[in-house]
Formats: sequence, structure tokens, C-alpha cells
Amino acid sequence: MNRFFIDSEDINEEDGTAVIRGEPVKHISRVLRMRIKDPLIIADGQGNSYLCEINEIGREQVLASIKEKLIKRKETFLDLVLCQALTKGEKMDFIIQKSTELGVKKIIPFTAERSVVRISVDKARDRVNRWQKIAKGAAEQSHRDRIPEVGAITSLESILMENQDTGPVLFLWEQEEKRGLKEVLKENPDIKKVLLLVGPEGGFTLQEAELALSQGAVSVSLGPRILRTETAAAAAVTMVLYELGDLGEADGK
Ligand code: SAH
Repeated sequence: MNRFFIDSEDINEEDGTAVIRGEPVKHISRVLRMRIKDPLIIADGQGNSYLCEINEIGREQVLASIKEKLIKRKETFLDLVLCQALTKGEKMDFIIQKSTELGVKKIIPFTAERSVVRISVDKARDRVNRWQKIAKGAAEQSHRDRIPEVGAITSLESILMENQDTGPVLFLWEQEEKRGLKEVLKENPDIKKVLLLVGPEGGFTLQEAELALSQGAVSVSLGPRILRTETAAAAAVTMVLYELGDLGEADGK
């Protein structure tokens, strides 16, 4: 079933109507060639989704009537934030897409010392907007109720400063030899928010590791093999959501 995110002010639960505007209109009429009475799912991106039926297809907007508010939760309760060091173009797109499908709540891109990509301030906004579109597309494809927010490009320092007491900050450290992610997750079964820090292709520097630890982060290993940054991001998100979230559970739960 086709799913579209629209602004919540275009959804009126009282009179059971919804208005789709902008680019999805052409997609509905020209690409999908949908008709009056065809069913579709509309979501507001904040966790509410509705089974709807098309009433009218215009050039600028599609009118739909709400048949049923969908209750089945597509969102895990765990607030998982992926802080990803800037990597080369398509890798970043991949990381945004896969972490969205898997269920992250927010993605914060940051410039690490070894990030080869340097994005100028004026280009940064365009990049973040592009990543936000990728997150929206992945959220629609994976039937999520919520679109993860892609934050503004920031620095490791500010991430650490702003997340002193919001839940474990896990620094994925390829040189960590004592503590594994599995053990940290098993020791903290009741955490509600987790922040993951993933380094760039070139890895984190010792200074970055020392800074993170000095600011209360916990360095963890993902295992004996060195993963590419895009693999590490997807694997760590999967491990956390399998252990503490809803990954691996049946849909009906
Ligand atoms: N180029 C480096 C590896 C960088 S991998 C080297 O060859 O040593 C990119 C990022 O993925 C790392 O900074 C780290 O955040 C994460 N990562 C990869 N493998 C990991 C592992 N086994 N344990 C913890 N983090 C890992």
C-alpha cells in the first residue's frame, strides 16, 4: 500500500479528511495512476498514520477521506541517535537510508578530524536538506510513522557537551579491547535513549577518543574485525535495536 507523509495541519481527524499537496500529487496521478476510491496510507511524520481513500484527484492537490487511524506501532520506543562522522558522498546517503530503515530517531552528522569531506557553511544546508529527503524516502519505504530528523552538521565537541546526561553516549572505538557493545547493552536493559558515535573512514584519533571519554562517553568495541564506517553504523544500530528496541520482533507485538 502506498504511504505518504503530509503536514499534520493537512490532516483533519474531526471531519475525517486529508489533503495531499506538492510533489506527491503528480506521483499519485501520473506515476501510480491512482484512481478515486483507491486506498493509501497517510502519515504525519510524528507517529500518526491513517488508512485513507482517495476522493478527488486535482492538479494541485488530492483529497482523501480517513477510513481508520492505524494503531500498529511502527516505531520503537527506544530513542536512538546516530552521530555519524562525515564520510564521502554516497556512503553518507547509504548510512542515512539504512539507519532510517532500521529505526533511528535522529541522525547528527559531524566533522571528525579525519573526515576527508569538508563542507562549506553555505553548502552544509543543502547537504542536510538532501539527507533529510533521503530519510523521508526511506521512512516511507520502510512504513515508518516517523521521519528521523537529520541535524545540522556539528562537531564532536558540541555533541559531547550537549549530551552530558541524556543517556549513554557510546563511542565506537576500533581500538577498544576491553569493553564490547554487547556487554554494555546487556548491563543496561532499561535505557530509553542511546547516542552512538561513529568515526569516519580514517577512524577516530586518539585525541578524539580521550576527549569523548573525558566527557563521559563510553568506548565500546563492535567486535574483532574492523568495519567500514557505513558497516559500523548499520551494524551498531542493529545491535542496539535488537537488544533494546523492536528489531527481531514480530510486527503484531
Ligand atoms: N580506518 C580505520 C577504521 C575506521 S572504521 C582502521 O583501518 O583502523 C570507521 C569507524 O567505524 C571507526 O572510527 C569506528 O567508529 C567504527 N568501527 C569500525 N570497526 C569497529 C570495531 N571493531 N569496534 C568499534 N568501532 C568500530
